Amino acid sequence: MLTKLLRRETCAACKLCCQFSSYDIWSTPVLNAQVLAKVKELLPEAQFLRKAEDAWLFRVEDFDAEDNFPCPLLDPGQGCLLGEEKPFSCSIWPFLLTEAGGRQCIALSPLCHSVLQQPVDTLLRFVKDELSEVVFAYADAHPEEVLPYDGVSPVLVWRNESMNL
Ligand code: SF4
Repeated sequence: MLTKLLRRETCAACKLCCQFSSYDIWSTPVLNAQVLAKVKELLPEAQFLRKAEDAWLFRVEDFDAEDNFPCPLLDPGQGCLLGEEKPFSCSIWPFLLTEAGGRQCIALSPLCHSVLQQPVDTLLRFVKDELSEVVFAYADAHPEEVLPYDGVSPVLVWRNESMNL
């Protein structure tokens, strides 16, 4: 979904968004029933926690020596084992579907250096033209996947607020 902003090769060489520290462990991918079924085929040993009616998370037992929990679906050579079927939140990262004070918005994680190098007006136009309609429609269908606002990621657009670009 983000190929206009991010080259696949850039993501393949980084994989930062597929590793979680004890500080951002809350943001591990949410697996809906369809994705969960695929994950169980790929990783029969994996353990899960149910977050909501149609939302599961990987059970996190341990962090590695560098305080990281690599997503169990991350293959060092191939990248995400789900390919194009990855969870929605992963397909839009570093953009975040989030809610603050009862209002939904799209925020930008400050962790993706490649996207952060782009001009702000390029990012805003991308969100307006390519992302917001899809993201907020997804929020309606999967409200359990809307994350609480993290307090630090800049908000790019609030739902139902026009962008004058
Ligand atoms: S599901 Fe795939 S894209 Fe998402 S964090 Fe895991 S390895 Fe990365």
